[in-house]
Amino acid sequence: MSGHAANPPDFDALIIGAGFSGIAMLHLLREARLSARVFEVAPAVGGTWYWNTYPGARTDSESWYYCFSFSKALLEKWKWSERYPSQPEMRRYFDFALDELGLRPHIQCSTEVESAQWEDAARLWSVRTTDGKTTTARYLVSAMGLLNEPLYPSVPGMDRFEGGCYHTGRWPQEGVELGGKRVGILGAGASAVQFLPHAAEQAAQVTLFQRTPNYVFPARNRAITENQQRELQANYDAMWERIRGNLFAMPFEGSPANRLAAQTPPKERERIYSELWKTGGFRFFFESFDDLLVDEQANRTAADFMRRQIGDVVKDPATAAMLMPRDYPLFAKRPPSGQGYFEAFNQPNVRLVDVKRDPVVAIEPWGLRTRSGAEHRFDVLVLATGFRAFTGSFERTPVRGRDGVSLIDHWKRHGVRTWLGCAVLGFPNFFMLGGPQIPFGNAPTIVEHVAELAVACMLAARRRGADLVEIDPQAEREWNELVDQVMASTLVRHGEEVGSWFTGANVEGQKTSNMVYVGGANDYFRRCRETAAGGFREFAFR
Ligand code: NAP
Repeated sequence: MSGHAANPPDFDALIIGAGFSGIAMLHLLREARLSARVFEVAPAVGGTWYWNTYPGARTDSESWYYCFSFSKALLEKWKWSERYPSQPEMRRYFDFALDELGLRPHIQCSTEVESAQWEDAARLWSVRTTDGKTTTARYLVSAMGLLNEPLYPSVPGMDRFEGGCYHTGRWPQEGVELGGKRVGILGAGASAVQFLPHAAEQAAQVTLFQRTPNYVFPARNRAITENQQRELQANYDAMWERIRGNLFAMPFEGSPANRLAAQTPPKERERIYSELWKTGGFRFFFESFDDLLVDEQANRTAADFMRRQIGDVVKDPATAAMLMPRDYPLFAKRPPSGQGYFEAFNQPNVRLVDVKRDPVVAIEPWGLRTRSGAEHRFDVLVLATGFRAFTGSFERTPVRGRDGVSLIDHWKRHGVRTWLGCAVLGFPNFFMLGGPQIPFGNAPTIVEHVAELAVACMLAARRRGADLVEIDPQAEREWNELVDQVMASTLVRHGEEVGSWFTGANVEGQKTSNMVYVGGANDYFRRCRETAAGGFREFAFR
């Protein structure tokens, strides 16, 4: 590999992954006249929207802003059919965007990166792929996604099950026949919430094995009419302006005049909650009151309201009670958005089993067994058990910085630490787009901003004649302190106790750290702008 030392690198940048972030990065690099190639392990682009083909998979952010924002042409030419697009529509959108932007020739699919190594003498990254080739680049960009690497449960006997066993995040592209089958679903997070009503339509019997119930918002999906389409397009500029100023990078109004739940009379509070509940989606949380994320009592008013909604929908009182989250505040775990989820439990073929009270102890050839000795038989086992969020991709794909230390080992040793979720000390010329400690919110918009920042940093290096950029230790330290500090000031901190992927606590035995920045996407965007305007003083250029 040292043979590359005297040669210029093959590309200015190599990007791992062709989902939202990889495609945005590729486009921005090309606009900046920097050469780039994307390696994508899947046979096609889309990332999350390639892999998650389980029945019912759709976005739970609204289509008109869950998309690329950097191209007016894309915004004007593409028409979303629904409020929350389905997975197949997302795939079509990616194909459209690639053709429109002319990016296909620069993306190499069905190519997995085996490892990436920083070559200090040559000041470049050397990337080995499964096609047996090694490619070099001045910069390496991880666009591997934050919820990418499936988390498989460590229950004894997983390989003994004789029916079909599928993780929602690696659902077979050809689909799975559920008609007339008995289906067991392990997990009750966002993926299970979307899958269950669809499974219930087809299968003879569906059993959901739930450990922790979730606060599920009603999505209230609907078609987008021609009129709405015209109105959206006429107001794009104003909408993106609002998004950039919003805590979650969504075009929400926030609550009027900083309304507080704790100071609103109960009757009025109920009226506000009811109205937003009818509107659907995340608006219930983001447009109601400003104290839900920080004040336990205020949060309880929203949680109580949600529990009452579950009680109103689910007819069997014991099932309703089991579905009501009680032990943690709303938003300590990422709340799912559902379409007919609670309603499905009224169907005679849907059953709920509490595996917190009576844990699963073994997978058997015919189903599973719980601690009490109960036997549950099914033909298909669906693992809706989530992801090794943020760090999982680096477990699979070693990225080795200075002295050959892999990023995952670096984090295991020192805890997960980054600067703005995008740069790491000891890993020069390396940027992550969906890395740990990026803000929580509308992911496509957030990763686009990170990509802009990374490209601006590369251009700043070029202007200075530098071929090495590395984050300053103090800048990294200050950012990590801030991430921890803001986390401690919100109720999201309880995620650690309830196994939220926000902290990595969903992975058994994993050392936890705060992996989302809850100080606001708007605050994060401001920091990005200030860094660029200040000439990237947070970095050392050599
Ligand atoms: P998740 O939210 O992490 O949920 C995983 C579920 O599996 C939890 O209910 C968990 O229980 C359970 N589980 C894990 N291991 C288990 C075990 N050994 N035994 C029993 N239960 C077990 O994963 P997800 O539903 O795939 O969603 C992950 C994230 O992806 C979401 O939060 C969201 O950000 C994103 N997502 C988005 C959409 C969308 O936009 N439409 C759809 C799907 C996913 P505990 O809670 O008790 O740990």
